[in-house]
Amino acid sequence: MAYDFDLFVIGAGSGGVRAARFAAGFGAKVAVAESRYLGGTCVNVGCVPKKLLVYGAHVADELEQAAGFGWTLEEGHFDWGTLIANKNREIERLNGIYRNLLVNSGVTLLQGHARITGAHEVEVEGQRYSAKHILIATGGWPQVPDIPGKELAITSNEAFYLKELPRRVLVVGGGYIAVEFAGIFQGLGADTTLLYRGDLFLRGFDGSVRTHLKEELQKRGMDLQFNADIQRIDQQDDGSLKATLKDGRELIADCVFYATGRRPMLDNLGLENTGVELDARGFIRVDEQYQTTEPSIIAIGDVIGRVQLTPVALAEGMAVARRLFKPEQYRAVDYQNIPTAVFSQPPIGTVGLTEEQALEAGHKVQIFESRFRAMKLTLTDIQEKTLMKLVVDAETDKVLGCHMVGPDAGEIIQGLGVALKAGATKQQFDETIGVHPTAAEEFVTMRTATR
Ligand code: FAD
Ligand code: NDP
Repeated sequence: MAYDFDLFVIGAGSGGVRAARFAAGFGAKVAVAESRYLGGTCVNVGCVPKKLLVYGAHVADELEQAAGFGWTLEEGHFDWGTLIANKNREIERLNGIYRNLLVNSGVTLLQGHARITGAHEVEVEGQRYSAKHILIATGGWPQVPDIPGKELAITSNEAFYLKELPRRVLVVGGGYIAVEFAGIFQGLGADTTLLYRGDLFLRGFDGSVRTHLKEELQKRGMDLQFNADIQRIDQQDDGSLKATLKDGRELIADCVFYATGRRPMLDNLGLENTGVELDARGFIRVDEQYQTTEPSIIAIGDVIGRVQLTPVALAEGMAVARRLFKPEQYRAVDYQNIPTAVFSQPPIGTVGLTEEQALEAGHKVQIFESRFRAMKLTLTDIQEKTLMKLVVDAETDKVLGCHMVGPDAGEIIQGLGVALKAGATKQQFDETIGVHPTAAEEFVTMRTATR
């Protein structure tokens, strides 16, 4: 049967755009439908605007450090409106780039909500299209627990468009987004409280990293409340919000920001017209080649709930395009040793196993850990410490994990990701000449095992 398209992609986000562009480049006839914004979450309400706000918050650190280097500055004034307007302009520029990327690759771009009406059929704005393969790359959406007053809270989606910087913010959650936005709000001058339901935030990260970041955030004056959860939110007469905690305490704020995870975006997608099944957590069930339980339908990215990171969605999109249209170039995505950064203040960079994961996997581990005050701070009164940690297999000498909390951690960890992918040993780390004077050289000069 002749189809309108070889591949119909739903969602022009990180994964969808990558799959569409490369499939078209391999000669396939491709359409992409996008209902909201080109570039998806990452470009519009994720990685990119977040990083721009993080840069904005970092300026406060630079200003604080300036005096130590002899600079006398007039008292600074921060204007949230300017930052948001400039950020919006940059996002619009990127939207245009994504449009050009797709159109120039020969992809048919359809604006509107896509609904699957059959195993090989998609409807957009009342028009039906047939396709040999349908790729679901619809991403995720913030999930807020169902508590009274939840409509008074905001999520990352709204935070990027707030009219003004709230004076007092309660951030709820203990994952990437909560920690990053708490740093943004605090860095830009808001009184910030982070509430997390467990004993210590960033579950799944290395224990030393979690404790170190906790201490550094407290030094910066952030109010960290662990084992704390909101039971209800009420608006007060003066417009402020009252959050009543499960332990009965009441906290007053101008903004309550929820970052309690993301659900798959399946709204009105028409999955009931297909044989696509969901997993126990509600994400689309796929096999190792992103094949759903409906033979003609594939799914990648946040909607499969595997690793919710842009570079992973890109890799999955690439793998799908190759498998379908350039099979001789197909390579499975390697989910081992994915480097990642949390753009907190200070930031975290991490790749490989945590100490806890290495022990649980049965490794005999050697730990190399270093805490030091970065050279840049020695002319200032700032007492922030950087943490670097290597988890090494004591039997094979292989480096299993690298973890850092400190300036530029995300930049530094990328190169270590290559080393781990290449299977580097601790001896090879030791034999690597350092770049001096940098903080990064500490990763190749930690000689004595801490434990
Ligand atoms: P998305 O990028 O979400 O794209 C899905 C697209 O599908 C959207 O454009 C949506 O409008 C569209 N869509 C949905 N349903 C339909 C439909 N029925 N019809 C038509 N279109 C539809 N990752 C990092 O690696 N680094 C970071 O620093 C980082 N920071 C983040 C910060 C925040 C605040 C958030 C929320 C996420 C962040 N992420 C980060 C995660 C990253 O954004 C996601 O992992 C990535 O965007 C997932 O890509 P995707 O292609 O699966 O989906
Ligand atoms: P995460 O899954 O990372 O964290 C969710 C947090 O909310 C956890 O601390 C979780 O606690 C807590 N939580 C979940 N449900 C509730 C509830 N009902 N009540 C109170 N707390 C709750 O999600 P995020 O929203 O922070 O981010 C989504 C994903 O986006 C991330 O996992 C990451 O993959 C990606 N991302 C990546 C970034 C980067 O690369 N820098 C930046 C931002 C996002 P518990 O641990 O106890 O379950």
